[in-house]
Amino acid sequence: TRVHLDPNTIDYTSDRQRNAVEALINEFTISTQLLQDVKANFMEGMNKGLQKDGETMAMVTSYVMGRLDGSEVGSYLALDVGGTNLRVVAVHLTGGGEITTRQTKYRIDEKLKVGEAKALFDFMAVCVDSFLDEHQITVRGDTQFELGFTFSFPVLQTSINRGTLISWTKGFNASGMVGKDPVAYLQDAFNRRHIPVRVAALVNDTVGTLLAHAYNNPDTCMGVILGTGCNGAYIEKMENITKWKGDASAKEMIINMEFGAFDKERAILPLTMFDNKMDRKSVNPNKQILEKMIAGMYLGEITRNILLNLIDRRLLFEGNISADLNQMWTFETAYMSTIEADSSATLHATRKILESTLNFPSTTMNDRQIVKVIVELVGKRAARLSAAAIAGILEHTGAWKQKAAIGIDGSLFEYYPSFNTDIMDGLEEVFGPIVRQNVSIGLAQDGSGVGAALCALLAAKHSN
Ligand code: BGC
Ligand code: MG
Repeated sequence: TRVHLDPNTIDYTSDRQRNAVEALINEFTISTQLLQDVKANFMEGMNKGLQKDGETMAMVTSYVMGRLDGSEVGSYLALDVGGTNLRVVAVHLTGGGEITTRQTKYRIDEKLKVGEAKALFDFMAVCVDSFLDEHQITVRGDTQFELGFTFSFPVLQTSINRGTLISWTKGFNASGMVGKDPVAYLQDAFNRRHIPVRVAALVNDTVGTLLAHAYNNPDTCMGVILGTGCNGAYIEKMENITKWKGDASAKEMIINMEFGAFDKERAILPLTMFDNKMDRKSVNPNKQILEKMIAGMYLGEITRNILLNLIDRRLLFEGNISADLNQMWTFETAYMSTIEADSSATLHATRKILESTLNFPSTTMNDRQIVKVIVELVGKRAARLSAAAIAGILEHTGAWKQKAAIGIDGSLFEYYPSFNTDIMDGLEEVFGPIVRQNVSIGLAQDGSGVGAALCALLAAKHSN
């Protein structure tokens, strides 16, 4: 549903207010030309990352080379870490493309995210242990569960279940982990507790999403996450991965792009002072620049920064702020979804968020309209930058010229109104109407859990 508010219908309180809003519209609008330029620059970044390690976009070789055909059977565990929740999933493949899952979510305490790495990995092992208890899942004799570990951070992989952490993202910053192998930490935590689990595969959520979507949709060429963070994975021809020194007998490999890191150089992205302020106060300043303009973890804070600026100029809420909105990170991206979807004449859902959730004593219609326009500017910019990235991948692979499916997972894509439409519109601006016939975008719900299990299965297939 698209219920964008037309800024021309706002009854501005002054020319200064009108000028301020128009300046924001200018700053946040991604023109077709800019979308094309970002896409072109993005493709250069892809090529660089395919040539050597250490480039801005890591273009990680995932070691996933095989394809699945839905006939696979088996039971696997998946552990999904890297979003808002930690999830443990038991995945049962019954053949014939059928999958059943049981899962439990656990909340990761903010302190664990930025504490000792060992404590974080111990917590993961404890969650898996209590999951097995809760679901009364046991192994026979001295066999072990095979686990696919979805660890959704940039990891330079050295095998299907080995790698080193390049950097933390999304508010995680546990000490002593960069350069270390997350699988070794997790396996050690299992072993110390005598939990009968073997970490068979290390999987990025984008790779898992691609695999899970492909299981039922053989045209799948890409997996994308638009959630707390953002990133993409796609199937690349081995001959294009010039940095690859390993076994080249396979024709293709899934690449985890780590595209959230794009434009560290700040050469092309139209960053505003509101982005820069959020970045400066984040736990990883100067990193994940594209991610910070797209992903759910950050959009609310960018919006909050704009609101503060208008308040400080006394152009909104009569210059008043609520104690809630004055705190960092309090303007959640989920509020933005609600405000975008608010099509009521009085903007009452918007009012509820401002007055009941954020405790503004009162708001005027003009306040609410301006808040809604700003939310829409930040949301639309995110969707169009996502489109630029997806277009870059489609053009690099040529996939837009034939039937191609894209699996997307993540809260932003799932819940944010018009994200899907805005992405498709952006793709059409690049490729023309044909792209609507050729390329389908689908929600790949829970892709990372199922995908991790499929990856564990592929790993077992190859070692047999
Ligand atoms: C991470 C990626 C991940 C993405 C989506 C980013 O912050 O670097 O590895 O795929 O978030 O979860
Ligand atoms: Mg996730």
